[in-house]
Amino acid sequence: MEILLAKTAGFCMGVSRAVELALNLPRRFHGPFYTYGPLIHNPQVLSLLEEKGISAIEEIPEHGEGTLLIRAHGVPPQAKARLERAGFNVLDATCPRVIKVQTIISHHSRQGYASIIIGDRNHPEVIGLQGFAGENAYVVDNIKDLSNLPVFRSAIIVAQTTQNTLFFESIKSWAEEYFPHYKIFDTICDSTAKRQEEVKQLACSVDAVVVVGGYNSGNTKRLAEIARQQGKPAFHIETENELDLNELKSFRRIGLTAGASTPNWIIKEIRRAIESL
Ligand code: SF4
Repeated sequence: MEILLAKTAGFCMGVSRAVELALNLPRRFHGPFYTYGPLIHNPQVLSLLEEKGISAIEEIPEHGEGTLLIRAHGVPPQAKARLERAGFNVLDATCPRVIKVQTIISHHSRQGYASIIIGDRNHPEVIGLQGFAGENAYVVDNIKDLSNLPVFRSAIIVAQTTQNTLFFESIKSWAEEYFPHYKIFDTICDSTAKRQEEVKQLACSVDAVVVVGGYNSGNTKRLAEIARQQGKPAFHIETENELDLNELKSFRRIGLTAGASTPNWIIKEIRRAIESL
């Protein structure tokens, strides 16, 4: 059996920066240490952070103490202000590529543009982006909902940084045809675009694809989705324990890739387990 490992598998720049900042907190700042929401969508990394005394809070308390890290997905500006007012020493690990989208939205919303965000309504990055658009934000994840939106005098269309590139292409064509006066910003991050392109090509040259990453990680789910769109079986797993080695035995060539929040050590473990076949 041959294993083809994707070059883009594993931490992207934004996640690796956020994890490094988190791991260095105890050396550089006063505790207790928190992240606002889980730092990344990977339960194994979150357990490691817990062991190091860095825990996630979901609600903003009235009074806070210690150091709090904002994750790579970013937060609405109102939430950051509340965290500071509560008394936390707030450090911001928002990925620079997410900041770019936040800036586009806030710049245009100040000029009266409506912001149409193509993304997953409940994803923290999208919730953060909405905060920069104020009242005039609309989140959609399919063309039907997009068609049902009111017609705006002026609007921008942006994408969650980890959206499916093919889907966003279809959104762009739709908008160009029906609302050519809308401004479209292709804000899918290049790390996502490369990862998706690679899994597409990988899927075409193997018999099956194993995709490693948190079950709640949107970008990981999309990798499995893209592999299946190429007509290949794709197995989305979080850890080695979920590998179905019996099923994998029947394939001659296996592609291995991972989401942007999957640490290298897990990818290596899974590679070793498949190699054992
Ligand atoms: S996927 Fe892209 S935008 Fe999101 S954290 Fe990683 S580098 Fe930043």
